[in-house]
Amino acid sequence: MQQHPDRPRTYKTEGVVLRHSSSGEADRVLAIYTIDYGTIHVVGRGLRRAKSRLTGHLEPLSHVALQLMRGKGIDIVTGADTLHGHASLRNSLEGIARGLVCCEMVEAFAPEEHPNPELYKLLLDTLAQLNEGEGDRLLWHFAFHVLRVTGYMPELQQCVVCSNAVQPDEHLFSPGLGGVVCLNCAKDGDPAGPHERAGAPLLPLSLNALKVMRYFRDNPYEAVQSLNVDGDLAGELQRVLGGYIHYLLEREVRSSTFLAGLSRLLPTGP
Ligand SMILES: [Zn+2]
Repeated sequence: MQQHPDRPRTYKTEGVVLRHSSSGEADRVLAIYTIDYGTIHVVGRGLRRAKSRLTGHLEPLSHVALQLMRGKGIDIVTGADTLHGHASLRNSLEGIARGLVCCEMVEAFAPEEHPNPELYKLLLDTLAQLNEGEGDRLLWHFAFHVLRVTGYMPELQQCVVCSNAVQPDEHLFSPGLGGVVCLNCAKDGDPAGPHERAGAPLLPLSLNALKVMRYFRDNPYEAVQSLNVDGDLAGELQRVLGGYIHYLLEREVRSSTFLAGLSRLLPTGP
């Protein structure tokens, strides 16, 4: 862990607890997505002891106000107050799983120590909506917008090979090239043949799926809520967007440890 000369010896911020792990007899190391510093890793001393006054405030999914102190190597939590515990979300395993997917997605795509207020707001808004009972469709919307605000939004307007505007037609999607490939480019020009480009398979992308992806990208969740995404279309979106996220995590972001946890957003089969 590096030192952060830009921070005073003691400082305050707020954030969402993404994850914690045990450290020594009684401590926990926490990954927290903060509004001021992006993801930080800090230690909560004595956090695993029931009598610690921090206990209960620093659970994953909690939105907390924090007081911290610079430490040798890793900063130390000296105070924490819950701003929003997302209690309803915690009432079901389903809710917890959805919330943790959001946390994992943020930890995977947000570079450490880089604040991103847009991503921070997106995470808070999404946890609040999940807490109100929203389901998997919100997760898809969240995934699109994490890609958008971290600079990984796939190209959906023009072919990533020939740069021609995408016509209303069936197309292919290249996770490796990060966007739509037109049928002309899929047919010729690549020695690997029509099913592969840049070392990654080309996935079929129907016109409907392309429209839905653009709609997710361009609209707030309130508009997406009423969209009719049936079984086949949902499966296709999962293959395309999930395949893309899978590719990014393996090849670009190199956070393959997150892949297991993100299974909810990833394709389940061929
Ligand atoms: Zn093309």
